[in-house]
Amino acid sequence: MPPKERSGAILTVDLDAVRANYRLLRDKAHPAACSAVVKADAYGLGAAQVAAALYEEGCRHFFVAHLEEGISLRPYVAHDAHIFVLHGPPVATEGEFTAHGLIPVLNSEPQVAGWRKHAQALGTTLDAIVQVDSGMSRMGLSPQEIDAWLLDPHFLDGINVHYIMSHLACADEPSNPMNGEQLARFSAIRVRLPQQYRASLANSSGIFLSPDFHFELVRPGAALYGIAPQSGEAHPLRSVVRLQGKVIQTRTIAAGEHVGYSCRYTASEARQVATISVGYADGWLRSMSNQGLAIVDGVKVPQIGAISMDSITLDVSAIAQERVAPGSLVDLICAEHPVDAVAAMAGTIGYEVLTNLGGRYYRDYLGLAQGAR
Ligand SMILES: *Cc1c(COP(=O)(O)O)cnc(C)c1O
Repeated sequence: MPPKERSGAILTVDLDAVRANYRLLRDKAHPAACSAVVKADAYGLGAAQVAAALYEEGCRHFFVAHLEEGISLRPYVAHDAHIFVLHGPPVATEGEFTAHGLIPVLNSEPQVAGWRKHAQALGTTLDAIVQVDSGMSRMGLSPQEIDAWLLDPHFLDGINVHYIMSHLACADEPSNPMNGEQLARFSAIRVRLPQQYRASLANSSGIFLSPDFHFELVRPGAALYGIAPQSGEAHPLRSVVRLQGKVIQTRTIAAGEHVGYSCRYTASEARQVATISVGYADGWLRSMSNQGLAIVDGVKVPQIGAISMDSITLDVSAIAQERVAPGSLVDLICAEHPVDAVAAMAGTIGYEVLTNLGGRYYRDYLGLAQGAR
């Protein structure tokens, strides 16, 4: 029996939709180059599959967070594609970057010094992105470190700067004044630098703010995967993920009967209950207990009771019994009930829903690239 039929739930990743989203973002950001952020296994969807598909679409700049993610990704994109590592080199790992053809984002004076020394030791020039902090206080050279850079003509000896970059803290809220403040700070830093380097500031949301934020390279992640770039607003991106859970069994319960752990649901009248084989161990967040919904046969049905480790329970009283029998598939995430809607029910953001998607699903990829087959 094929694994798809044996599995309790099916996750379909529509790489054709990822490709279409990439083309849309690329066209919107033109003439800036458009990279793809594929950290955290492409937000849980499969970095190898996503990157290979986007390489086919012409993407030549990929971002991961960790060195180890860069090493894993390298075989899936040809060497004319750059892989940038957002966290920069962990202490004393510079040799791993050159060995695997990875380019660090240098975030601090110690990271710059380590890369400079590595270039000196190899007697060559090494590529890098230099990140400056424009107000998020998370990563990037601090104002003090930038001052030290400007006083030291040898700060970047042996380092070939591809881009100066920074990152936006509030870009998903277009009216937040922080966006303009960060743009002003970033621009002020750039004019002080000894050279006019190419620049990169915008994540997905930043692309939708205005062309002033685009510079020479944009860095979308979430929007590629169908997450709304502006919280709660309509957007032109295609839905990428479909999660279907299988019905294990159904039952009829009488008024007054309870459902699930801690009896968090009590029926006020007779109800038809279906148990589905997806739970919090699959990333179906427990904060959706008694709140979530699923789509059965085009009808939205409420999730009742607590989310268990391996299962959830749905009130399917509104559905004809033969439509919810053991083995029937119900939609937990789909175009009509996208990741952002699921996130809202869980009290979180789409990013967290996607990156939590579990390892027990049967994964179906639509539109796989040759190299990832
Ligand atoms: C994660 C990340 C991105 C991508 O952000 P999205 O909001 O997913 O588009 C871009 N730049 C940096 C520095 C990041 O950490």
